[in-house]
Amino acid sequence: MNSIKEIWSTLKCLPFAVLVHDSKTRNYKANESALNLFNLKQHSDLNENHFSHIKLISPLSKKTLLLQNLFDVYLIPNVQNKVVLEVDQTAFLLNIKFANITETVSMITFEIEKQTIDEQYNFDVVISNISADLIDIQNDDVDKHINYALKAIGTVCHADRSYLFKFNDENTEMSNTHEWVNKGIMPFKDSLQNVPKSELPYFFKLMNDTYLFKVNDVADLPASAGGEKKEFELQKIKSVMCIGLSYEKELVGFIGCDCVAVKREWTNLDLIRIKLVGEILTNAFKNINYKQKLELTQQQLITANQKLSELVNTDGLTNIANRRCFDQTIDDEIQRCVRYQQPISLLICDIDFFKKYNDSYGHQKGDEALKQVAETLQNLCKRPGDLAARYGGEEFALILPCTNTDNAYCFSTLIQKEIAKLGIEHKYSEVSDMLTLSIGFYSLIPNTKTIAEDIIAKADAALYNAKETGRNKISESPPR
Ligand code: GH3
Ligand code: MG
Ligand code: MG
Repeated sequence: MNSIKEIWSTLKCLPFAVLVHDSKTRNYKANESALNLFNLKQHSDLNENHFSHIKLISPLSKKTLLLQNLFDVYLIPNVQNKVVLEVDQTAFLLNIKFANITETVSMITFEIEKQTIDEQYNFDVVISNISADLIDIQNDDVDKHINYALKAIGTVCHADRSYLFKFNDENTEMSNTHEWVNKGIMPFKDSLQNVPKSELPYFFKLMNDTYLFKVNDVADLPASAGGEKKEFELQKIKSVMCIGLSYEKELVGFIGCDCVAVKREWTNLDLIRIKLVGEILTNAFKNINYKQKLELTQQQLITANQKLSELVNTDGLTNIANRRCFDQTIDDEIQRCVRYQQPISLLICDIDFFKKYNDSYGHQKGDEALKQVAETLQNLCKRPGDLAARYGGEEFALILPCTNTDNAYCFSTLIQKEIAKLGIEHKYSEVSDMLTLSIGFYSLIPNTKTIAEDIIAKADAALYNAKETGRNKISESPPR
């Protein structure tokens, strides 16, 4: 039997990388190609520490493998295996073969798979990275990942353009939502919006039936594919491959690759890859859809809640604030005026002889009058903190922050003027031919001890005074 030395002198001349391992001494030998491949400097006395900068990964299980274990655990003599080698941020897919030289010495040959293999590995990395992100519904980078996937599929399939089309809700039009183009290739995304699907009957017949449209040479398309041919010629497409995306068993769009510069005989691997990207995107859309539905439901809930709170705070007849809203607002406005040391005024208005109005003109007319009065009061409340509320049957209360006694009086006269302008006839009133109001008001600069009940009681007392002294009057508490 030849000595190791002699064997090595042959092995080291081989044109591909060779590693020899002695399980007794635990030493390695690397030929020139192996030194290059593993980026090693030292020539003799290599041990496993010299390989600490490399990573070996199983392309199937993605598990990290130990170099030493390749020699004594994983590999069967003369069976070809594959391993991914990562060295200095470059990945290579290697074909490796193991052989025993002596009982303790064995060798492995490493050959880099040509061309697509490096791409294959990069493609796998891209796909595994984006698939996890696209499944996460919290992820807002969906567009970025779709573009990333299109670039990966376009590159690995040697295409010049790759794209995603989605159909409208009516399923009548298609729009190009994402596109990747190779350097120097014209993009078409902008001009491919809302394209009627009926323009490509041949394409969609195949798509609907098989979820696949694969053409190596568009010149070979049959005469029945006239519309498609025209479109492909316009975009200078020579080869095209598309696969359908489905959602709840319906075709909702497709992804595809075009070759413009040179024709391509699409390989099985191309098809497998594009199908993989299609599946990932389909899953992503399911998640986006789910997320959108969830967001829509949440929005509807918020809107419903807003409506509910409006309803709860609004008087059903007059549509202005109700007593509940008044009670809440007055406390808040008192606090605000305490903080800024500003006066606050409360006006209570009561329609004069309204019982008689109802009795004479009917309840419906009464309701109309209440609505008109309410609207008038509401329109007079122009400043942000002002509030007009229906306080009870034919009584209204107005909260006017930052309003002193003089201003409250002016405001009250304005109310009476505006009510008079409405010109609501009230023949049965004892004070006028028209509908009138009595107004009682109270103004103060509140302090931390001020409570709403006191203010209301004072304004009420003033209103009582206005009624007592003849109605259609303005009265202040305490009386001027
Ligand atoms: P005063 O001048 O002393 O205020 O006399 P008044 O008749 O206005 O007062 P009173 O309290 O005796 O009557 C109030 C009337 O308001 C009685 C009620 O029928 C009427 N009213 C209360 N709420 C409504 C309503 O929602 N719609 C209608 N149409 N009338 C209402
Ligand atoms: Mg009343
Ligand atoms: Mg009244």
